[in-house]
Amino acid sequence: MRKTYWTRFLGLLALCLWLIPSIAFAASARRVVSFQSQVVTEGRSSFLRIEIGMNGPIKDYTVKGDGILHPNRLTVEIDKAEKGDVRAEIPLDRQFAKTLRFQESGKKLRVAVSMQVPASEQNYRVYTLEKDRHAGKPNRLIIEIYGEGGRRGHVAGLKGRTIVIDPGHGGTDSGAVGVGGIREKDITLEVSEKVRDILENSGVHVVMTREDDRDVYGPTATDYQELQARVDYGAFTPNVDVFVSIHCNAFTSSSSNGTATYYYPKTWLDALLAQNLQDAMVEHGDRRDRGIHEARFYVCRHSSMPAALVELAFITNDVEGYLLADEDFQNEMAQGIAEGLANYFAASGT
Ligand SMILES: [Zn+2]
Repeated sequence: MRKTYWTRFLGLLALCLWLIPSIAFAASARRVVSFQSQVVTEGRSSFLRIEIGMNGPIKDYTVKGDGILHPNRLTVEIDKAEKGDVRAEIPLDRQFAKTLRFQESGKKLRVAVSMQVPASEQNYRVYTLEKDRHAGKPNRLIIEIYGEGGRRGHVAGLKGRTIVIDPGHGGTDSGAVGVGGIREKDITLEVSEKVRDILENSGVHVVMTREDDRDVYGPTATDYQELQARVDYGAFTPNVDVFVSIHCNAFTSSSSNGTATYYYPKTWLDALLAQNLQDAMVEHGDRRDRGIHEARFYVCRHSSMPAALVELAFITNDVEGYLLADEDFQNEMAQGIAEGLANYFAASGT
């Protein structure tokens, strides 16, 4: 009787000692379960993509770069995580980064990547992805490493600016309708969103006059009300540097083609802005340079800050209509506008 009691007690005690740490362990520690790295090419740019798979959601992590002692080292510290069976040091592609090291310190797992360029913000991106049952992928920490020139879509010299982007037309006003029935209001919004993304990646506070297919003032507005509503975005946002309205050109003759920019000379800065936008769009879009022109467009005249209205290309031209709907061309024009803005700020000294 007594012996049975003690046997049971000891058995139970052993079970508890075995269970408690394993329950605690399963609830807290994350472990690396997979590792993958590859150079990805998207359009003209390529970058190194590192995927670190973990056996559970990755909740808390911190990212450090740009250190004084090791400027090229990017460090990501994941809380409550362990290295698992993965190698402590992994050689990388060498074009973007040399090595990746895993190091456990306390309850943290430190991931250190030695990059080929300084580990400053525009040269990397760190984010997490959820477990993907369809693709058979675990929870992942993703580290993207960019080369010289930084993150795709990052333009230097724009940080801290406030810029209004006005996608022309919208809602009841489709703007010009071009080849294959494509509508100006859709193209202007698509390009404007790409411009917004690049500018935001570059540290700009972007104000959009519309972010979907709608009239800015309202469907029954007069032209005056509609255009003034767009100007108001600039007027009621503090410290706006420039206002850019994005449009497509149209003409009765389908042979008309090329890129143009319009401005109203409130000060010398309006023409300077127009010229810089025009040059960079022509460089990127490679369409005929129709130059810059003075015009009495409402949004340019009534914006208190330097303003320009760009006509990307002709929606009524067979070749350009096709290009305007093409994502690669849209990306090029968006990049051109962003670079044009940076060139303008450098040239204006403002
Ligand atoms: Zn238009």
